[in-house]
Amino acid sequence: DGVIWLDGELVPWREAKTHVLTHTLHYGMGVFEGVRAYETEKHGTSIFRLKEHTDRLFNSAKIMMMDMPFSKEELNEAQKLVVRENNLNEAYLRPMAFLGSEGMGLRADSLQTHVMVAAWEWPSYMSPEAKELGIKIRTSSYTRHHVNISMCKAKANGHYINSMLALREALDSGCEEALLLDNEGYVAEGSGENFFLVNKGIIYTPELTSCLDGITRDAVIQMAEECGYEVREKRITRDEVYVADEAFFTGTAAEVLPIRELDGRQIADGRRGPITERLQTMYFDAVKGRLPN
Ligand code: PLP
Repeated sequence: DGVIWLDGELVPWREAKTHVLTHTLHYGMGVFEGVRAYETEKHGTSIFRLKEHTDRLFNSAKIMMMDMPFSKEELNEAQKLVVRENNLNEAYLRPMAFLGSEGMGLRADSLQTHVMVAAWEWPSYMSPEAKELGIKIRTSSYTRHHVNISMCKAKANGHYINSMLALREALDSGCEEALLLDNEGYVAEGSGENFFLVNKGIIYTPELTSCLDGITRDAVIQMAEECGYEVREKRITRDEVYVADEAFFTGTAAEVLPIRELDGRQIADGRRGPITERLQTMYFDAVKGRLPN
């Protein structure tokens, strides 16, 4: 039940359908966002970093050469409207732009771009234990490539095939997440999260060559620097992770998620480290409106 915003109209959830010849369904070219609304202490429900998500959606569309038929302001309003109309206090939002069913074939320049925004309650991606104790991950046999188009600035549908296979592989081997390497063997990111490690008090994260320019990544870097930590972007190898003092993922869904083990090697003493905990607390304070963000 509830409503979905589709091409400028609010449509009942069950009627927000698309044709089987929808181009994006066949060839995978589409762009989307994962956004979250939190109940804040002073301002009711508020969408965390809405402007940044909408900007990234438009950048993704530009990279994919898809014409957006709405303005950023209209998309921002659509997201607020969907949360309000569905009476959601806390929500996950999914804006997506996709190519319609007006034509087939790879030459998609005459196709119309359709835009939708859905929102639903998605209380937590990870269990409270995982957030406190950390998760076990494994290096994936699937990789992130920065050969043709790096996809650091584009969150695009077709790109998620190796994320899905990587996650499936990790879950099947008793882990909770995957760590994808780039095509040179350096750490890139999780299936839908950015990666960080801490060594001797310094925070490291892969540079933006083979990972998404994550909005949570950016928020966490900003918070860490405000706390006086040094944050360095650099190439990270697997063995650096094995011997790190702390490691964690960041993402709209995962928030700040400690990692306690990679490939059967326990990271430090196998629990959430102090810097991870501090950044996690600050992140929750920011999304809940207890800190400026
Ligand atoms: N990396 C990938 C591949 C993702 O899909 C996501 C999620 O959007 C992230 C990283 C984290 O990005 P953000 O913090 O903007 O959600």
